[in-house]
Amino acid sequence: MPENLDYDVVIVGAGPAGLCAGMYAGRAMLKAVLIERGASGGELLNTEIIEDYPGFEHIDGWDLAQKFESHALKFGVEIHRKTVETVRKLDSGTFETITDGGDTYRSPTVIVTAGGTPIKLGVPGELEFAGKGVSYCAICDGAFFRGHTIAVIGGGDAAAEESDFLTRYAEKVYLVHRREELRASKILQKRVFENPKIVPIWNSVVERIDADEQGLVNNIVLRDAITAERRDLTASGVFIFIGFRPNTGIIEGHIGHDSSGYLTTDANMETSIRGLFAAGDLRSQLTRQVTTAVGDATTATIAAEKYLTALKSGQTSPEIAGSGGYAV
Ligand code: NAP
Repeated sequence: MPENLDYDVVIVGAGPAGLCAGMYAGRAMLKAVLIERGASGGELLNTEIIEDYPGFEHIDGWDLAQKFESHALKFGVEIHRKTVETVRKLDSGTFETITDGGDTYRSPTVIVTAGGTPIKLGVPGELEFAGKGVSYCAICDGAFFRGHTIAVIGGGDAAAEESDFLTRYAEKVYLVHRREELRASKILQKRVFENPKIVPIWNSVVERIDADEQGLVNNIVLRDAITAERRDLTASGVFIFIGFRPNTGIIEGHIGHDSSGYLTTDANMETSIRGLFAAGDLRSQLTRQVTTAVGDATTATIAAEKYLTALKSGQTSPEIAGSGGYAV
């Protein structure tokens, strides 16, 4: 018997935004499914400690992810472990969300909370030695570098935070940044500069990552961004944190986005495709935090619910009323 894959709302991705959307959809008594290819938690799983989520002065990323998931499940959302390949809107107005296994979910609304993928440096050695010294996840791989000298590449919040975290294991962490000033928030910068195990290397661009005969990383070739001089940096690990690319490629057809590819939405988190909402790290906005992700998701889910109500009342293309709600 084929599964009935008709839902009120399909949510793509189970990071903080997706899990919050799942919770709100459940509370609204919508028939809702969250589709996630891996473990629930998204970027929470790549963050050791969260200290900026209200109510939790200090909580492990993994623990917060577990709490988000059980909270969403409590209100009845289903979670299916599958990889979404395509989201498309048919002429009838129904969305089809298609997985790599060939399952097709049908729904009048979709909330995309698929986050992003780490940006690659694009230098020789990076992909060849991924998992052999090159990593994009400190919490996953940090413990392999106990007592080692490693390098972190980047100058944003992620690079600063993870450098600090990695000093739990590594003897020394070079923080390699292409400019002379970190982009990271001041509190994270302070933590970096006060940590004696972190050695910043300014104005330096990675040219190549080398490995020994066993294929394990042992050296990084850096180029000075000002003098163009090259130097070798001995390191057995390279953790790359140079930002994320939003996972928007699954959406078929033209969709509004900014110059970096993040989805643009209105105040209701609705994208340029009517009935398709976006929340979390793939949405164009000032900052990307757990707090903003769940805020987006709250708005998106309530807006999606109002959109559904308007559809059920007979509107074929519900319009947003002046109050910011849908005219029903
Ligand atoms: P980000 O803020 O975009 O920073 C990326 C960093 O990588 C920048 O310093 C950038 O250099 C550098 N970079 C970019 N491309 C590079 C290249 N090809 N080669 C070398 N360096 C390169 O990214 P993020 O740190 O991943 O943070 C993403 C978002 O998540 C941000 O909004 C951030 O606030 C948030 N976040 C927050 C926390 C927290 O609050 N605890 C933790 C992690 C992430 P330039 O500075 O020269 O551009």
